[in-house]
Amino acid sequence: MLEDPPVLGIIGGGQLGSMLSVAANKLKIKTIVLSDDKDAPAQKFCNKFIYSQYNNQNNINKFLDLVDKITFEFENIPYDILESIEKFKPVIPNPKINQIVQNRYKEKSFINKLGIQTTRWSLVKSNEDIKKNENLLPGILKTCTLGYDGKGQFVINSLKDLKKDWCFTSEYILEKKITLKQEISVIVTRFKNGKSIIYEPIENEHEHQILKKSQIPANINLKLFKESQKKAKLIANELNYIGTMCVEYFIDEQENLLVNEIAPRVHNSGHLTINAFNISQFENHIRAVCNLEMLPTNKVSNATMINILGREIKDYRDRSFQEDEFFFDYLKKEIKDKRKMGHLTILKK
Ligand code: ADP
Ligand code: MG
Repeated sequence: MLEDPPVLGIIGGGQLGSMLSVAANKLKIKTIVLSDDKDAPAQKFCNKFIYSQYNNQNNINKFLDLVDKITFEFENIPYDILESIEKFKPVIPNPKINQIVQNRYKEKSFINKLGIQTTRWSLVKSNEDIKKNENLLPGILKTCTLGYDGKGQFVINSLKDLKKDWCFTSEYILEKKITLKQEISVIVTRFKNGKSIIYEPIENEHEHQILKKSQIPANINLKLFKESQKKAKLIANELNYIGTMCVEYFIDEQENLLVNEIAPRVHNSGHLTINAFNISQFENHIRAVCNLEMLPTNKVSNATMINILGREIKDYRDRSFQEDEFFFDYLKKEIKDKRKMGHLTILKK
């Protein structure tokens, strides 16, 4: 007798939750999204939506009753909440990974311990600590926790930029600001059997620290191509990861490959996999998390993906598209400056 497909709980209701739900439904897997945003866009794409604060035990219990297993679309869910949920239903990938990557200090220490290079950095808790690390200036001060899309980051060009009244309410790392030749990312989906599917490196362009454009093929040499895939695989193996994750890299002017960060989830730079591969990062995530068959994943086309931010969405909504252009509207209720509102993927021969 065939087993019933599992009901998958997804914590977080942004566009990644929407795209995961669409991929799951294609595989006949029902999704229940839990989000603390009552306007969460994923509610339009999932089978059931539960609006709740993440610490509301009553609602969490309702969610737990309805699902067989749980995954998440953003990594900043407080660890203790994921840990308590995990006592009742499996959470995949393992929340212990979040404990590492939620904190830039732990994340960079973990990466460096594997012998993998990052930019030079130091943990700082006061202006005194910054002064001791003057060799890291010009640098970027980044909050250890809860930063995304460049939020929680401050450029410090020299000690003159230090302000007396800075209160270090949380921990920071000070990172050497480097001149970037390029940025790339590698997406990998690792299955329970320890085997992985690795997508080819994607080249990324940021504007104001927000991803603006991603494309394949990345304009890099074969050495960097292989090295970036090898390191991403090593990180996934080391974490005993199950599901899709992304490793973001910097390439400096000397062509050194430095890990910037790890995202334990599907990733914005991988949106182009929906149209450019036979199996997307989202479908592979669902396959890995739900322990479905791992199928060969092949590129069907080169592609460029453009993020549509803020009011730009209005023009796209009025436009018509060519056959090789795929427009995704995240159907967000409110347009906000620099908010990711949709994306466009253009396939290229
Ligand atoms: P977030 O968690 O907000 O994505 P990142 O650390 O990835 O933060 O930084 C966002 C972007 O800012 C990077 O993709 C890169 O373009 C730029 N950036 C971050 N750190 C550095 C650095 N040390 N040197 C140069 N550019 C950087
Ligand atoms: Mg980043």
